Amino acid sequence: FGAGGGYGEQEGYSEERISAQRVADHYSARSNQTLEERENSPIIHLKKLNNWSHLRQIKSVLVQLYARPGDCVLDLACGKGGDLIKWDKAKVGYYVGVDIAEGSIKDCMTRYNGDSDQQRRKKFSFPARLICADCYETRLDEYLREDAPFDICSCQFAMHYSWSTEARARQALANISALLRPGGTFIGTMPDANVIIKRLRESEGMEFGNSVYCITFGEEYTEKKFPASRPFGIKYKFHLEDAVDCPEWVVPFHLFKLLAEEYDLELVLMKNFHEFVHDYVQRPEFADLMRRLGPLGDGRSGQSTLSQDEWEASYLYLAFVLRKRGPPPSQ
Ligand code: SAM
Repeated sequence: FGAGGGYGEQEGYSEERISAQRVADHYSARSNQTLEERENSPIIHLKKLNNWSHLRQIKSVLVQLYARPGDCVLDLACGKGGDLIKWDKAKVGYYVGVDIAEGSIKDCMTRYNGDSDQQRRKKFSFPARLICADCYETRLDEYLREDAPFDICSCQFAMHYSWSTEARARQALANISALLRPGGTFIGTMPDANVIIKRLRESEGMEFGNSVYCITFGEEYTEKKFPASRPFGIKYKFHLEDAVDCPEWVVPFHLFKLLAEEYDLELVLMKNFHEFVHDYVQRPEFADLMRRLGPLGDGRSGQSTLSQDEWEASYLYLAFVLRKRGPPPSQ
């Protein structure tokens, strides 16, 4: 592994490179937690919602809905490989994971090879390749020429790290488009800019949140106005209790959709997590997942395993599906 993230030895850091490095350092520093540590996390239920752990996850539903047996998978910003099991259950044929954080890639490798603490399982059934690189800076097609084309690309809770500049956002989409086959699927989850901006405007100061998360905008946004002419680089600090504490960028979804179209990626679905949960919880094929998570709702019913604050934090996210233009695969 090691495909040109390469921040450490370079001179003349640009601001966005320093920010990307901060993100990488943050995730690298978060070493693999034990099961006990994870169960004690204040946001364990939210993680389960994001994860619907062992098939309790919104990500799981996306994978279940869109992955096909034998698929060649590209997992951008794969982190510690928390989704490996989902891909295994979907019986995919090949997996490539890319992440900027070296520590996460190492953890992912450990997980893939079957560590004793977390998974106590044998190796995964599909071959995998793990690469440490900045997905939004590097031309990945040069590294993955022999692995492409991919049937499905996934970018979970990470697309927004590309939105620091237009060049990075474009490189992200160019990579996905270049590596997906025509008719291939791009699935992902990221913060919902509409919710974030609405919450900011409703708040008195430059900060809002609850017991599990806090979002802080800088003084440059005191007027709480975001001109359409400058839609990139709108930075805020995101703190999610026991999970995230680093700079992130607002992704105006209508612009994401328009930019993706320039790279032949057409929108199939976009749903805020609340809508997503309510839509899929009804479907019999996911009933088992939802049963394991426990009753959902607004957290006020007293039945839900999610607290009101956790449920509110999940409202910050959306799920999306795009499809690469071109003929569907011949059967
Ligand atoms: N996708 C994984 C998941 O859902 O479990 C990890 C999500 S974590 C919230 C965000 C991930 O994005 C981190 O692993 C981080 O290192 C990665 N990341 C952030 N910026 C990146 C970049 N420029 N290139 C590659 N990975 C990046």
